[in-house]
Amino acid sequence: MGLVVQKYGGSSVADAEKIRSVARRVAESGAGHQVVVVVSAMGKTTDGLGALAHQVTASPEPREMDMLLATGEQVTIALLAMALQGLGLKARSFTGAQAGLRTDRAHTKARITAITADRVRGALDAGEIAVVAGFQGTSDLDEITTLGRGGSDLTAVALAAALKADVCEIYTDVDGVYTADPNVVPDARKLPRVAYDEMLEMASLGAKVLQARSVEFAKKYGVTVHVRSTFKPDAGTIVTREEHAMEDVVVTGITHDRSQAKISLLRVPDRPGIAARVFGAVGARNVVVDMIVQNISRDSTTDISFTVPRGDAPRARAALEEVAREIGAEGFAYDERVAKVSIVGVGMRSHSGVAARMFTALSRESINIQMISTSEIAVSCVIEDKYAELAVRALHDAFELGTEGVRP
Ligand code: ADP
Ligand code: ASP
Ligand code: MG
Repeated sequence: MGLVVQKYGGSSVADAEKIRSVARRVAESGAGHQVVVVVSAMGKTTDGLGALAHQVTASPEPREMDMLLATGEQVTIALLAMALQGLGLKARSFTGAQAGLRTDRAHTKARITAITADRVRGALDAGEIAVVAGFQGTSDLDEITTLGRGGSDLTAVALAAALKADVCEIYTDVDGVYTADPNVVPDARKLPRVAYDEMLEMASLGAKVLQARSVEFAKKYGVTVHVRSTFKPDAGTIVTREEHAMEDVVVTGITHDRSQAKISLLRVPDRPGIAARVFGAVGARNVVVDMIVQNISRDSTTDISFTVPRGDAPRARAALEEVAREIGAEGFAYDERVAKVSIVGVGMRSHSGVAARMFTALSRESINIQMISTSEIAVSCVIEDKYAELAVRALHDAFELGTEGVRP
């Protein structure tokens, strides 16, 4: 008998009928195994709760935000446990706190510090299906915390590591990880296997099918993750250690991220210490900066542009309002209509000319590149947001992902 952790995302448990069908799926697939089921909030509940918070105040306190958001998952665990019991199975629901998921104190983006999972283990030993609320934990102050958007994936992977599960199955509304978002690229292909590093890069660069931090955790603890469909029985995508053959494929996937904003500081004096002052002020407000570009200096002044998550942009602007005057910058410009498109693949380590091929494909569509960044296994370009989907399709074609180049 094996131990399986299964996670069902928001769209899989969006209404009562779907919760009942998840219960049936758990009953069938889990027969003969010990099963832990992690669930998200129903449908778009988390978005709805966030919007509600902003209707009562412009900047909700993060502690209260977590208190609010954690209610979403608590509804689903109770309903799924009832549905399982309705099928004659033994099941018990657990909040993050009851499952022993401890985190640091960083409300709304807490990191896991420890998992005891004693009560979950106890339930399994008693022959029960343990139904655990994703996305939530408690800090050392016994405060409810949440793990960042998409955090139920992390709960599932972390429980799989703590319980030494045989596999962590992520059930969702697509049947695996594709060469690009299948809702944007109709001929995107399902990848049978993806290396942790590639998946981590794809997730960080916008492929929301898995939360980036869950992939990081899976890699660290060697958890095999199987991304598959809630609605279809087919095998999905295995996220696992890198295998030799994976390097043969230059580009594995194309991602896009439309949740960023670009800020440019204009005509900044070009002298030592300025960048440190600017990014010191931005960092002090807990804003994580992504790409940075500094132009060539003219008349001893230069422009500095950078991107930040759109939600953090008001804080970045507040920091710049302070600092711009102090350093003698002419002012700053703000642009929400940007998107980042990226190509990802471990094969890039051993192939040359990949970036040039990307730029050629974008130029063929007359898409202007505003910023570029590279890592060992990815190249990203910031472009105008209205071209995001066109760019993804053009790159998908240019790297022949829909037809050739997909590993067997
Ligand atoms: P869940 O609610 O189950 O957690 P998410 O909405 O978080 O599901 O993630 C699934 C979505 O991820 C898909 O509907 C798809 O649009 C999107 N997605 C983006 N990039 C990819 C990709 N490369 N492969 C598969 N899905 C992707
Ligand atoms: N409900 C949370 C969210 O929407 C966590 C998750 O679904 O993974 O981000
Ligand atoms: Mg998700």
